[in-house]
Amino acid sequence: MSYSDADRIRAVLQNAKHKETGDLNKADLVIFVTCSVKQQAEDKVIGHLRDLVKIKKKQGLQIGLTGCMARNTSNQESKKKDKLLKKYKDLDFVFRIEDTEKLPTLLENEFETKSNKQNPISYFEIKPSYQESFRAFIPIMNGCNKFCTYCIVPYARGREISRKMSYIINEVKQLIKNGCKEITLLGQNVNSYGRTNDVYNEQIQKNEQEDFARLLTELDSIPGKFRLRFTSPHPQDMSNEAIKTICSLDSICNHVHLPLQSGDDEILKAMNRSYDLKKFKSMVRKFRKLSPNIAISTDIIVGFCGETEEQFQNTVQSFHDLKFDLAYISQYSQRTGTYASKNLEDNISNKEKKNRFHILNNLLRKISLTKNQTYLNQKVEILVDTIDKKSKTATGKTSSYKTIQVPLGDLKPGDFAKVFVTTAKEWILYGELVSEMGKPRGIRKEKEVGEKLKHDRIKA
Ligand code: SF4
Repeated sequence: MSYSDADRIRAVLQNAKHKETGDLNKADLVIFVTCSVKQQAEDKVIGHLRDLVKIKKKQGLQIGLTGCMARNTSNQESKKKDKLLKKYKDLDFVFRIEDTEKLPTLLENEFETKSNKQNPISYFEIKPSYQESFRAFIPIMNGCNKFCTYCIVPYARGREISRKMSYIINEVKQLIKNGCKEITLLGQNVNSYGRTNDVYNEQIQKNEQEDFARLLTELDSIPGKFRLRFTSPHPQDMSNEAIKTICSLDSICNHVHLPLQSGDDEILKAMNRSYDLKKFKSMVRKFRKLSPNIAISTDIIVGFCGETEEQFQNTVQSFHDLKFDLAYISQYSQRTGTYASKNLEDNISNKEKKNRFHILNNLLRKISLTKNQTYLNQKVEILVDTIDKKSKTATGKTSSYKTIQVPLGDLKPGDFAKVFVTTAKEWILYGELVSEMGKPRGIRKEKEVGEKLKHDRIKA
């Protein structure tokens, strides 16, 4: 989401005749695109902000901040200032991401205009200036109506609003025309797409569960060779129609991220997650039935308010049962302003949170290694995203989001490459290029593992 926000901020600044620089000593403006998911993320921003003070004094640097840490669009001159401006005097302005188009006004120090807070349409309509040409992150909706008790996002980003389908399709068409190979659809709840805000999104009927599925189907029908990813869906809104669509369309990657958060029903209830473990497991079964090799990743919070040892063990058991390919495990950190911060006691010690984190992470490590070993001696396709000339290696992701490193050859970021997997480690695979196969071929998820050379038949 932050990458996508940055693409829009870059575009607005370029239109206002600013130029991007990678050299901080030449900069006269720095904007932080922030994340509030954990205290650690906020602390990092504040640390960098403090580091910038010397440069600010030397070269008159202007410093701005946006993203989930920003609440009120304002600058140091505004009557109603964001609380960050009061606390950090070296910060010149703060803006809600919906107000990105107003950046030039803010920079001229004249901001007292009305915020776009309730109507973030203009944010969606900014034509982005993408950081990379081979992959792009595009928002399909913004905000959240779910109010999980630990989460600040509904306060920071506001209520759900979906972007007009025709705009998304046009943006994707243009990206593919320009050679983009991988597009990630973004939203706090991507699979709630179109279910709210029927006034703005008049193409979509309210409460039709297939709305997200319809969007995926429309995007898949665009000609060309490309991959589609999406993040993050909410388990509650994952319709059977969406599962079928995700598992059947060729362009959609063979990976789904399903945030479980806890394997204990009481904790899920305390988190206001609105599903239980049984429902979650049934959803995973449906995905695996339709697409047996699909990779499934998740988010987990350990040490949530009042989480007992027994409740934590239910999460451990869920890892044994569900065998996630990947999990982003967080130690609970209280976010000011959330329901949990006001009503629940953060009573698990940091030491215990850390301990639970390590237990889960070690288990994940073992599961991940076993999963990765199923790729040994298989031929798969990667999209190269990084090259390292020093070590003469290229790294890319399979459709199932596995990272594979190969010898560099003449690869460059954005190339599809066929790879024969030779080594499996816990978090990474290594392979050799299958150069004799000629031009990269299309992606067919069910065939990615276990069909070795049958990829030749796949239509480019
Ligand atoms: Fe936060 Fe829950 Fe909304 Fe996700 S679904 S953004 S965790 S409130």
